[in-house]
Amino acid sequence: GEPGAIVLVDLDRFKEVNDTLGHHAGDELLAVVADRLRAGLRPADTLARLGGDEFALILPRSDAATVRRLLDGLSAALATEVVLDGVPLSIEASFGVAHYPEHGRAVDELLRRADAAMYHGKRGSADIVVYAGEDMSHPTQWLVVQAELRHALARDELVLHYQPKVDLRTGEVVGVEALVRWQHPQRGLLPPSEFLPAAEQSGLIEPLTAWVLARALADQAAWTATGRSWGVSVNVSARNLEKPGFADFVSGLLAEHGTPAHRLLLEITETALAADTRRAEQAVLDLTTRGIGISVDDFGTGYTSMSQLRGLPIAEIKIDRTFVRDVLEAPPSQAIVRAIIALAHGLGSRVTAEGIESPEVADWLRRAGCDEAQGYLYSRPVPWAEVGTYEIT
Ligand code: C2E
Ligand code: CA
Ligand code: CA
Ligand code: CA
Repeated sequence: GEPGAIVLVDLDRFKEVNDTLGHHAGDELLAVVADRLRAGLRPADTLARLGGDEFALILPRSDAATVRRLLDGLSAALATEVVLDGVPLSIEASFGVAHYPEHGRAVDELLRRADAAMYHGKRGSADIVVYAGEDMSHPTQWLVVQAELRHALARDELVLHYQPKVDLRTGEVVGVEALVRWQHPQRGLLPPSEFLPAAEQSGLIEPLTAWVLARALADQAAWTATGRSWGVSVNVSARNLEKPGFADFVSGLLAEHGTPAHRLLLEITETALAADTRRAEQAVLDLTTRGIGISVDDFGTGYTSMSQLRGLPIAEIKIDRTFVRDVLEAPPSQAIVRAIIALAHGLGSRVTAEGIESPEVADWLRRAGCDEAQGYLYSRPVPWAEVGTYEIT
């Protein structure tokens, strides 16, 4: 018959809205989403609520290009700000697409494939994903990861590895960055890319970050006791910043471990900082007021505005590894790296380059005025017990 598509739509932040603003705000959000979806559909299309925060769309008599255009429109319509309980939000959703007859003829098969595509998109943070074959992971895997991660936190299966940060002028280690891993009982040591997206979607990122902070501060206190004055950097996600009281929570942990606030750097990706400007900015200000250092991670890949940076006391800017990688060969990367260094210094921030794998790159960066460096050249991230071995002689 004629081609068409079944599309699954899942809201990215429904649980968070429900948790922070309450159920009636969650219900209101679902109603707004349903209205906006309905408004963007054609008369022959169907919208169905699947329960939770999932919707299904049936788009008959549509080829792939038509479906794509329609979904781009829906995605844009959803993104228009909505105010719930006085809190402005932008609605983000993931769309998973299965085309018929190409991906199947039976509705349940098409739904399963649309679901697989949708979860694939959530992991890779793409908003519209078309089913692309059996290697798109099984749809239940996402839920399995969430369920297992809950246990992992309870059973202490997470571990931190540390990667040193080196002063490019003196060659000395000045701090370490904590990077989380999951010692999975069956699957072995898992990198953060395997479980962080599931943690962020499910709200588990909150206990996860709390665990990472507590572990890192305890480890930091142990180093301090042996005379090493390293600062410690911890990665936090946008979700953590959005949680009211986060700065107080971190302050409490610092006091508990007897750690001076300036010894902790919280790394926030540029994307997270740019995403929800007002709330992220307020959280950053709350943290810096308490003396906690803020580092802007993956700088150069996001869209922070200059005026945003001007208003925030940033301790460190980290140049994303994609610019560092080819800085010897690529004049555009050289220009970007030099510009970031100048910007950072102009704002009174230190600048760190990540992903340094060769002495030549380290040299180039030092001559360009970069302050600190991280990368496999110095050390891969290693378990706590091995951290002492990369003390520079
Ligand atoms: P990131 O913060 O940009 O961390 C740097 C990543 O680059 C790490 O990957 C590190 O192992 C890797 N790396 C370091 N030096 C080199 C190098 O010379 N070459 C190459 N190719 N790679 C290098 P990892 O540990 O897999 O972490 C990935 C991302 O996961 C991190 O990126 C960070 O955004 C996130 N992450 C890690 N731990 C946490 C955490 O505790 N909380 C949160 N929210 N995010 C975390
Ligand atoms: Ca959801
Ligand atoms: Ca980082
Ligand atoms: Ca980074």
